[in-house]
Amino acid sequence: TRTPVNVTVTGAAGQIGYALLFRIASGHLLGADVPVKLRLLEIPQGLKAAEGTAMELDDCAFPLLRGIEITDDPNVAFDGANVALLVGARPRTKGMERGDLLEANGGIFKPQGEAINAHAADDIRVLVVGNPANTNALIAQAAAPDVPAERFTAMTRLDHNRALSQLAKKTGASVSDIRKLTIWGNHSATQYPDIFHAEIAGKNAAEVVNDEQWLADDFIPTVAKRGAAIIEARGASSAASAANAAIDHVHTWVNGTAEGDWTSMAIPSDGSYGVPEGLISSFPVVCKDGKYEIVQGLEINDFSRTRIDASVDELKEERDAVRALGLI
Ligand code: NDP
Repeated sequence: TRTPVNVTVTGAAGQIGYALLFRIASGHLLGADVPVKLRLLEIPQGLKAAEGTAMELDDCAFPLLRGIEITDDPNVAFDGANVALLVGARPRTKGMERGDLLEANGGIFKPQGEAINAHAADDIRVLVVGNPANTNALIAQAAAPDVPAERFTAMTRLDHNRALSQLAKKTGASVSDIRKLTIWGNHSATQYPDIFHAEIAGKNAAEVVNDEQWLADDFIPTVAKRGAAIIEARGASSAASAANAAIDHVHTWVNGTAEGDWTSMAIPSDGSYGVPEGLISSFPVVCKDGKYEIVQGLEINDFSRTRIDASVDELKEERDAVRALGLI
């Protein structure tokens, strides 16, 4: 029998946490034959609600769930962690400046990075979901110098999935017919969903669509602003779809991308495609044997270049701001 994999979830009592934990425990994160132990990290005010969720997890009698531990201490939460899903973050509230937001999140992600550095397992893989996700990931990564930088990633898979769905709708294709779509840059309104290399049932997606105005004025803003549209419709931010994307991200990282396809992950740049080294930016990646690699050699047209650069510029500004705050 396999040893259980330790999965740590922060912000476990939040709404994404609630949608996420049951799927981890039922085997969707790592596989139907992989037992898991859950560690739930919450702030003190969130501990009681996390206990309630743990009671419900117990009541599911998931065969793969081998234990649940709840704590408000990152040193305990990340002890021996193999996978860490950093969901809890300080949300932007009305009137809050970006500097304040970055500083508040630095207070969360820096100690978590330090705890990961000191206590996590050697094979630790980190996914940051809590916003601003790319820069929160950068803060945690900088605080964990003994962990290979590439183990720190941020989520753009929800944007990727949203783009798949919008493109399928537009073309009448099924999402399973679409391959090689890319989200570039920051998980923010500047992100760039790129269909120029995508394929729909083997045909180039941009040629199938053949409508640059739809791309610029409809597709890109719809994908980038989908979160706001969901808040408007639902009265609460997306949670189940965000949790689903987090599951997809880790599952793909560990188990690989399908032959002839790739996915989107925000990862520390190696300088590819003109993205400054070290920035945590979204790229097209292929995953195999538990590792990812940036897809190389794609031709970037002017339409794409302008948009990738704009999103990367935003990431540089965020990096410079957290650097000025002494967080990295
Ligand atoms: P959610 O569970 O709804 O969201 C958590 C984070 O995910 C937010 O930063 C949110 O960003 C982000 N996020 C990323 N992508 C998406 C997406 N597509 N849709 C929605 N959210 C997205 O927040 P809750 O307030 O319900 O729960 C947060 C929990 O975290 C609370 O229980 C709180 O106590 C806890 N917390 C724990 C910490 C810790 O463990 N140290 C630290 C801070 C908080 P955005 O705000 O931009 O929507």
